[in-house]
Amino acid sequence: MRQQGKPLGGYKIVKLKPFKNESPLDFSKPQVATKMQKAIEAVRGKLGKEYPILIGDQKFFADEKLRSYNPAHKAQVVGIFQRATQEHVKRAVETAYQAFERWSVQPAEKRVQRLLRVASLMRKNRLKLAAWMVFEVGKSWAEADADVCEAIDFAQFYAQESLRLNAPQPLVKIPSERNELCYIPLGVGVVIPPWNFPLAIMAGMTFASIVAGNTVVLKPSSDAPAVAAQLMEIFRQVELPPGVVNFVTGAGSALGDVLVTHPRTRYIAFTGSKEVGLRINQLAATIQPNQRWIKRVIAEMGGKDAIVVDTDADLDRAVDGVVASSFGYQGQKCSACSRAIIVEKIYDKFLSRLVERTRKLRMGAPEERGIDFGPVINDQAMRKIVAYIGKGQSEGRLLLGGKIHQEQGYFVEPTIIADVAPTATIAQEEIFGPVLAVIKAQDYDEALRIANNTEYGLTGAVYTKSKRKIKQAKQKFHAGNLYFNRKCTGALVGVHPFGGFDMSGTDSKAGGRDYLLLFTQAKVMSEKIK
Ligand code: NAP
Repeated sequence: MRQQGKPLGGYKIVKLKPFKNESPLDFSKPQVATKMQKAIEAVRGKLGKEYPILIGDQKFFADEKLRSYNPAHKAQVVGIFQRATQEHVKRAVETAYQAFERWSVQPAEKRVQRLLRVASLMRKNRLKLAAWMVFEVGKSWAEADADVCEAIDFAQFYAQESLRLNAPQPLVKIPSERNELCYIPLGVGVVIPPWNFPLAIMAGMTFASIVAGNTVVLKPSSDAPAVAAQLMEIFRQVELPPGVVNFVTGAGSALGDVLVTHPRTRYIAFTGSKEVGLRINQLAATIQPNQRWIKRVIAEMGGKDAIVVDTDADLDRAVDGVVASSFGYQGQKCSACSRAIIVEKIYDKFLSRLVERTRKLRMGAPEERGIDFGPVINDQAMRKIVAYIGKGQSEGRLLLGGKIHQEQGYFVEPTIIADVAPTATIAQEEIFGPVLAVIKAQDYDEALRIANNTEYGLTGAVYTKSKRKIKQAKQKFHAGNLYFNRKCTGALVGVHPFGGFDMSGTDSKAGGRDYLLLFTQAKVMSEKIK
């Protein structure tokens, strides 16, 4: 039990133990693997169900349907969803706006308690939630489990943060006045997540919104609506009041503009590609008739993340870190390493070990035990990645992979292209798949310059034993999340607040102490007493 306290007017004073991340499961243990297999079978029996749009306490069905498929078995329908119309979207925003009136004035402790119950139900359903991700987005067991852990961590961390922000805030005292500062909610938030962390990111943006007192219209990714539907079911079980989170499915290209430009929309919490993020930012800046505020945009976008390996690095460790960062979840992470920048003296040695290590990855349908490399998300993504591999072959030397296997699903082999110029297309554009460009640098200084030479600035890592070089990279390597002698993926809530610079986004630092502030505004109240 993480929660203690005594009753106070129908709810309890919440006292939380110091935040601690959920521990990942070890699937090499037979009893853990057996449990996961059971969860997979349980979820398999639920595939293909139809889900409604949820607005307030009402369910809606549309004429047009949206199907989500298993990328490892492309004919297998994971869920059938509604293609919402613009009328649904408008209704959802209006409903959220009405619900805001009640939800925003609830005691913060009550909202916190609700979120803690959500966390505890997620813990209870941990393996099933992971199994949904195995089916819907092709995550390996370990990646899916990490996604659930992160979602639970977000709930627990933002609950704690909400209590901190709702406690009396320190102000300079003056004798003649009593002053206080409160963080109050903003209004209706539109939450638009990507498919690649279909639980953690979707839930994280939603949890931050509602625990701060806002109400939400959640439009999940069209590639991962079934995972989002599981969270909606948990919200139902904890009796989240109707209208606090409204669930509207359909193509972002059809619904996004209506959501973003609605005059009642107060903010947009978006995570996804640079193109969509910039469009949202631009549209949100245009004032609509009857709009009474400047819309806030929290936009976390793409990356072209680099790992620099210097001559004095522990090579085995560096190879492991590059392989995990480049090919974990098939390279479909914003934090994935897509450029390995290797100092000349160790270049050839590094390449041969990199290829040897990458060959050991086991590719297959992640429903099976022991698979560490699954499919990419869909046909369109596969084609895009293949086009980049084609381009990469003219820009460098194909060392490994490059082939696709599409009989069952959308499989792209882990691909390594060496001798790539820092300015080449595959060294500049986000591919979002298992394609690693390896770049040779003359020396460490040049390696850092190459690392900074893109429009993005999300994650990065450096492998070196030199304290001086670490200090140099701390000053010069321009990335929102910079790591040393470890992989550049796997940020932990609370430990590594996450968000990028430049075209990688607004640097919102999800899972950090600054994050909830983005979902609130500060009100200062002064009372004359002398
Ligand atoms: P995406 O294509 O930009 O889609 C993201 C979300 O935006 C989806 O829900 C999508 O809906 C919606 N959308 C599409 N067009 C829209 C529009 N015109 N207006 C409003 N919403 C719209 O990105 P993705 O393929 O899902 O995710 C991959 C990208 O996310 C990569 O670039 C990756 O780097 C980035 N990412 C960044 C972070 C980070 O923290 N920086 C984390 C994870 C992922 P539909 O699915 O219906 O199209």
